[in-house]
Amino acid sequence: MSTIVLGIESTAHTFGVGIAADDKILANVNEIYIPRYGGLLPREAARHHLVKATRAIKNGLVRSNVRLEDVDAIAVSLGPGLGPCLRVGAMIARFLAVYFDKPLVPVNHAVAHVEIAIMATGTKDPLFVYVSGGNTMIVAYSKGRYRVFGETLDMPLGNFLDSFAREIGLPQPGVPRVEELASKGERLVELPYVVKGQDMSFSGLLTAALRELKKGVRLEDLCLSVIEYSYAMLAEVTERALAHTRKKELVLAGGVARSRRLQDIMRMVAEEHGAAFYVVPDEYAGDNGAMIAWTGLLAYKHGVSISPKESFIRQRWRMDEVEIPWRA
Ligand code: AMP
Ligand code: MG
Repeated sequence: MSTIVLGIESTAHTFGVGIAADDKILANVNEIYIPRYGGLLPREAARHHLVKATRAIKNGLVRSNVRLEDVDAIAVSLGPGLGPCLRVGAMIARFLAVYFDKPLVPVNHAVAHVEIAIMATGTKDPLFVYVSGGNTMIVAYSKGRYRVFGETLDMPLGNFLDSFAREIGLPQPGVPRVEELASKGERLVELPYVVKGQDMSFSGLLTAALRELKKGVRLEDLCLSVIEYSYAMLAEVTERALAHTRKKELVLAGGVARSRRLQDIMRMVAEEHGAAFYVVPDEYAGDNGAMIAWTGLLAYKHGVSISPKESFIRQRWRMDEVEIPWRA
């Protein structure tokens, strides 16, 4: 008999349902909230999740040919994320766990991104560059936990580029649009390059870029500069993290991992340090239910579970607080 876990993701824009069994993903159903204009509104996203939840769960079960009765545990992403969105997933997961009398397994969203990436790339012990709309961190496993070897001090990289795109009137998703204009850029404009130790800061870069725009700098040149400055900051920190940890694999993950330019830069960084380079496949790059089911399965097999009464959401739950018994 195989062990089956149903996982629920709802930390931000995606309501996802995944079903994992032993070493396979049986289903990965994701409903993505897209704002009509501007940025993500947490309460609107939460309402979207509530509306889409039943159908997503049903589709996941049908696609994997699994009944709720056959599931061994319910996994849920309890953070980090946006309160109103997290509450929807947590409420549904608690209900399923109590009603069907199944153990409830808490999953940290960032840990799940790492674990699904390891599974999908077939790596063993990589250094991980995780860049998405809501996160920018460089992490690797060491002594029982994922340790952070660099992160943003303010805005995540994806959020920074999306905000910049909005300010200059480009539609979302912003990163590919800014990159498209950047490909027609010819000249670098001087902008603040902010790396403090192993950490990065992007908010000053945003302010400065918008100031340059008002001065009449060519838009293509500004896009080129914003892309090259921010990716160079990330590369510098990644390079030091590789040298320090001596990991022999580098994995790029998160929504921004789809950037060809960032992939090229990170491939060069990896080569210089004798590390093999991998990119997470698209289906597991953005937020998804499969990664919660998969990580829930690993955790469940190592005895991790939580009482529904204590399954509070944690908006700022750091991944280096989580014990990882399955890698010990
Ligand atoms: P996530 O939060 O993981 O869903 O990732 C969202 C981020 O990925 C946003 O900042 C998007 O602008 C960015 N993104 C979406 N498509 C692409 C792409 N083709 N290349 C680079 N970044 C992208
Ligand atoms: Mg994410």
